[in-house]
Amino acid sequence: MAINSKRIISASVRDVVEFVLRSGDLGAAGHFAGPGRALEGTKGHQRLQKSRPAGYKPEVVISWQREMPDFVFELRGRVDGVLVEGDHLLVEEIKTVNRPWNGPADPLHWAQGKVYAAVYGCEYRFREVEVQLTYLDLNSDETVEFREVFTMQALGAFFEELISEYLEWIESHQQWRRIRDESIKALAFPFKEYRAGQRSMAVAVYRAVKNRAKIFVEAPTGIGKTVSVLFPSIKAMAEGHVEKIFYLTAKTIGRTVAEKTLEDLRATGLRLRAVTLTAKDKICFNNGERCDLKNCPFALGYYDRIKGAVREALQRESFTRGEIEGIAKKHQVCPFELSLDLSLWVDAIICDYNYVFDPTVSLARYFSDERHDYAILIDESHNLAERAREMFSADLEREEILSVKKTVALELTGCARALGKVSAQISALSKSEEWADRNGALVNKTAPETIRISLKKFLEEAESWLVRDEPAEFREPLLDLYFRVLRFNAILECYDERYVTTLDKATGKLRLFCLDPSALLRKALKRTGSTIFFSATLRPGEYFRESLGGEAADSFLQLNSPFPEENLCLMVHDKVATRLRARAASYEQVVSSIEAMVALKTGNYLVYFPSYEYLNQVAERFQALHPGYRTVVQNFGLSEEEREQFISQFRTGTSETLVGFAVLGGIFGEGIDLIGDRLIGVAIVGVGLPQICLERDLIREYWQKGGVSGFDYAYTFPGMNRVLQAVGRLIRSETDRGIVLLMDDRFGNRLYREMFPVWWDSRQTGSEEAIRTAGYSFWSQPLSTEQSGGATGATSLQRAAS
Ligand code: SF4
Repeated sequence: MAINSKRIISASVRDVVEFVLRSGDLGAAGHFAGPGRALEGTKGHQRLQKSRPAGYKPEVVISWQREMPDFVFELRGRVDGVLVEGDHLLVEEIKTVNRPWNGPADPLHWAQGKVYAAVYGCEYRFREVEVQLTYLDLNSDETVEFREVFTMQALGAFFEELISEYLEWIESHQQWRRIRDESIKALAFPFKEYRAGQRSMAVAVYRAVKNRAKIFVEAPTGIGKTVSVLFPSIKAMAEGHVEKIFYLTAKTIGRTVAEKTLEDLRATGLRLRAVTLTAKDKICFNNGERCDLKNCPFALGYYDRIKGAVREALQRESFTRGEIEGIAKKHQVCPFELSLDLSLWVDAIICDYNYVFDPTVSLARYFSDERHDYAILIDESHNLAERAREMFSADLEREEILSVKKTVALELTGCARALGKVSAQISALSKSEEWADRNGALVNKTAPETIRISLKKFLEEAESWLVRDEPAEFREPLLDLYFRVLRFNAILECYDERYVTTLDKATGKLRLFCLDPSALLRKALKRTGSTIFFSATLRPGEYFRESLGGEAADSFLQLNSPFPEENLCLMVHDKVATRLRARAASYEQVVSSIEAMVALKTGNYLVYFPSYEYLNQVAERFQALHPGYRTVVQNFGLSEEEREQFISQFRTGTSETLVGFAVLGGIFGEGIDLIGDRLIGVAIVGVGLPQICLERDLIREYWQKGGVSGFDYAYTFPGMNRVLQAVGRLIRSETDRGIVLLMDDRFGNRLYREMFPVWWDSRQTGSEEAIRTAGYSFWSQPLSTEQSGGATGATSLQRAAS
């Protein structure tokens, strides 16, 4: 919004007071703040307000503005209560607490009351105001009151000092925005020319961002998709279409690429501040221990040091994990909290999906109120449906409930009683007739309403002890369970026809399983401006549009590979049967097909399998029959170091052939970048179907009822995306060449063929001999350096230009 064409920047009284005046330790203000008590707090406020004398006005909205040279600042707030009797004005600030209030009034609470008094008193021209601070203990309903009379002169001086400091920060931020916008206006695309398809992508993204729309973009490797989404979004930012950019990734590698792209743009003149958010447990300085606010030196006195840290940090523009850690160490502040505090002053936030979508993790400071002009750029969007399904699901285990019950039984009898009730109710649930028995697991289409009250009781009991911040052996398990129940309750609130409840009879695990996260994703995205879903593999488009909360009006852009088609030799061996029952009979055929491919040229190859069992059976036979080839095998549960070791075997300029055996959909199935001759061949055994299991089957049934092919939505399409991702490991640059061998009779079917990208010029090679012939002919050709993709590089540009 703008007044006299000036931008309005608003902030709440609470935010301003906390920002300027907060001091001391992290978490000290509320110690353990029980979010489960928010509703109780509201009710407590209302009870007190109703008990006040006639004429008392509750929830009085106040607003104050100051025109600055470049913007208008607006302070907003809601006073808990105002009572005017003659020329006497009383302003009340109510705080609900979870224990008896014994100490003095909190200076931040006083400050809030004084700001309300200053604004209200000034507007209605009072000479003095009485400020009352009331603490209401939610457990006992007892109140403690503090009162003080202030002259308007004193309140005015206090207010002016507070606001001046805040406005100094805002003005400096506005100055930064001017510098940023000037640099963006002068910014040219960082490469001499656009690659095929890249311009189409950048234009489509720009239009979507400008129109606050959603767009899906399938951009194969080589298009330069990161710069093609960031560059137009940044351009749109300088034109006032974007308030903040959120670049969401599923993996660390995606974050690194985004950081590097911004660095490249900065090298050509861009001034843009960006912070990378790293998960708290990863960036914490506490050596893998649980966050301990009471003893952590980076939490104690955090607020006394944070402004200095942020002020100094803002001399720079890039805040990657390493940089955050450096600043945090220097200023002795918690690195995670520092990254969050810095995020307020930056233009782009690079983070995991969950900071935007997860109902229990999302950044409340950005996504809790009205819609904002954020550009949400979702990298590797093909991963989002699975991740979202997990983010919107929750479970409780009876075993954990009983174990915590046992540990707290002597000291927290109320808590233990509530947990006993929850456990008994979970047991009783299984006896209800509404459940369908599915091989030991019970499935129900309704929410487990009966446990809602006991869970709430447990949360109340646990909170009333946790807020006391007392040490006890059971504190950690109780805290873990508390957060699990809190999450369970939050998900219970989302429960609708897109959910099912499952109960494992053997373990007593009760799960709220989100079958279809699309509606929740859509709802989350309604709070933002534009959304760009992009990935190298988003097919079929309709499946992704539906699963990710897209709407019919959203554009979909599919781009061609920019690399010469001739550099990829794609063979389909459709005489191999890899379905579970046929697997044992396929081992020899798979071994000889792999050998036929790798014998053609010395170099590095990767072969992907649908399971470890299949992989091991084939790898053992291959090693025994062809000991002349070096092999490396992906084992289950590799450590970070073992992963590195696996990848480091794929060296350039090798003089011997290496065959790597990996699992489709696993850690080497996507996100690895083996450029040039580090990888010259990929074989895929099977069509990548996820393992058949209860949850997959429930997803299948859900979509089937929705009028589409449930099997395809639950199995075929996610499987084929794994295949496409694995194939995408091969050609990573315009000078890469190699062979892909798809082994499964289903690759000959129309359904699968239709999911092949159009630039795949596949050949049927139904025998080892045919593989040898086609492969020999391919390797005999010279490398092509012609760019592919035609004039625009777009194979289909549907509605993208609308
Ligand atoms: S450094 Fe770690 S332990 Fe300390 S406050 Fe931060 S997250 Fe908690």
